[in-house]
Amino acid sequence: MCGIVGYVGERDSVPVILDALRRLEYRGYDSAGVAVIDASGSLVGSKAEGKLGRLAERLTTEPLHGKTGVGHTRWATHGRPSDVNAHPHMDCSAKIAVIHNGIIENYARLRERLIASGHTFRSETDTEVIAHLVEENDEGDLVAAVRKTLREVRGAFALGVISQDAPDQLVFARSGASPLVVGIGEGEMFVASDTPAILQYTRKQIILREGEMAVVERDGYALTDFDGVPIEREVTQVMWDASSA
Ligand code: GLU
Repeated sequence: MCGIVGYVGERDSVPVILDALRRLEYRGYDSAGVAVIDASGSLVGSKAEGKLGRLAERLTTEPLHGKTGVGHTRWATHGRPSDVNAHPHMDCSAKIAVIHNGIIENYARLRERLIASGHTFRSETDTEVIAHLVEENDEGDLVAAVRKTLREVRGAFALGVISQDAPDQLVFARSGASPLVVGIGEGEMFVASDTPAILQYTRKQIILREGEMAVVERDGYALTDFDGVPIEREVTQVMWDASSA
């Protein structure tokens, strides 16, 4: 289980995401990537096999900026470590980006079905089926499309989705034992696969449980089950420091 990060707010998300991913490096990983919605409203991304320094270098020569973004450090389970297999993965139209920890058990059958209905795959990962499923299920409502997708995939995972058609939104879901927390800031929100990754930005956090989804915007979030039924969760005030973690 590697690193997942999301940001939505007024800052440039790229340095925030890289910083948070660095704090998840202890988990080990083989590649890293980011995707953001840029100032023109387009989804843009960058990824690199190897250490985060390689991604950071790439982002120095070809910078990306955007106030909504996701980032990932991957530990390959399906497909070798490579630039192409690094997350985020995109749909055919490159409007939707997905990051994912864990495994999609029924990915082979889903991939076959999606290819038969005309989708083009770029990577060898199980993760990419999520991007194409969301694309297929998207009838103008990203949250509904992710919800429908969650009903089609099996496994223990955490995932995050952004779309240029919903530029102010992060959609995250947890199925099984993959941790996810939402960090609540002032006019900005964070998501991470572990508390210490975002502690330097906020100590107010919500921990997702299995079978829960979080739709996150800069001024708030909605926690639901996979059917969209609202869930109340008390905000946790984290009292410890990253160093003691
Ligand atoms: N199964 C996915 C892959 O191989 C995600 C692995 C991970 O947890 O980083 O790309």
